[in-house]
Amino acid sequence: MARIVYVDKEECISCGLCVDNLPDVFQFDDDNKAEAYDSAGASEEDIQSEAIDQCPSECIHWEE
Ligand code: SF4
Repeated sequence: MARIVYVDKEECISCGLCVDNLPDVFQFDDDNKAEAYDSAGASEEDIQSEAIDQCPSECIHWEE
């Protein structure tokens, strides 16, 4: 089963990096915080390297 990714919105600084890099996975909510709306929108490897590893707030995580 595919892993589910989520954003800890309390820590998100709305930099836009994850939304820019992977728009099929992340979007901004009405409060301008990122949210993961489709964990299957990119490969796990891309989500890891292009979002999780680059998020300046380290607030993108895999659900355990
Ligand atoms: S990269 Fe991190 S801080 Fe930037 S918008 Fe995405 S979740 Fe928020």
